[in-house]
Amino acid sequence: MSDTGNHVAAAGDTGRATHGEPVPGRSSRRRLTVVSGPSGVGKSSVVSELRRLDPDIYFSVSVTTRAPRPGEVDGAHYHFIDRAMFDRMVAAGELLEHAEFAGNCYGTPRGPVERALAEGRQAVLEIELQGARQVRAAMPEARLVMLMPPSWEELVGRLTGRGTEEEAAVKARLAEAERELAAAGEFDVRVVNADVRTAAGQLLDLMNTDFESIREHHE
Ligand code: 5GP
Repeated sequence: MSDTGNHVAAAGDTGRATHGEPVPGRSSRRRLTVVSGPSGVGKSSVVSELRRLDPDIYFSVSVTTRAPRPGEVDGAHYHFIDRAMFDRMVAAGELLEHAEFAGNCYGTPRGPVERALAEGRQAVLEIELQGARQVRAAMPEARLVMLMPPSWEELVGRLTGRGTEEEAAVKARLAEAERELAAAGEFDVRVVNADVRTAAGQLLDLMNTDFESIREHHE
């Protein structure tokens, strides 16, 4: 991967951006933004910065069957639930999307996202690729953003640089990262995370820009 390309800049080239202009007849789902990207790309940091930049945005809190990590707060970082509860939520249609990742289940509670959108708020989901694909299928108007590393070498450096991982675990993450990056073309926009503040600012600009003017046509 030599060129990750910053398509945000290309998006602005259309000259048709209309900031914050409502489009009659379009569903509120256009205010839904999905942020995906490989492990190590800095999704959480960029999303935290976005939260700081615009406190009005609704950030979905996922359910997960994985155990909390030190410092993680139930109800803030995730809703930590057991597998039986997860399966019940899936069966009851309470999850907007769900996926298994690295042996654990994750899902987006549907109700809070739909309420936020109905109230006219922007909503952001930070989820992995399979979930992003489900949102694409269920809500085609949603905006799909992939966070990209500045280069493959940089991502390898970030993943191996954590130092705490077993070599096998790092290899597995890299293989997964390669698969996720290979799907970049399925996303409406790709934002390169060379710098957290810049990437979060670009994301916010995108969210405040009329979607049709930035949607890329995939060859
Ligand atoms: P972690 O266990 O490191 O917090 O998250 C692992 C992966 O699951 C990350 O890529 C994260 O974005 C993704 N993830 C978190 N919540 C959800 C969710 O509700 N749905 C899906 N599909 N992925 C999620």
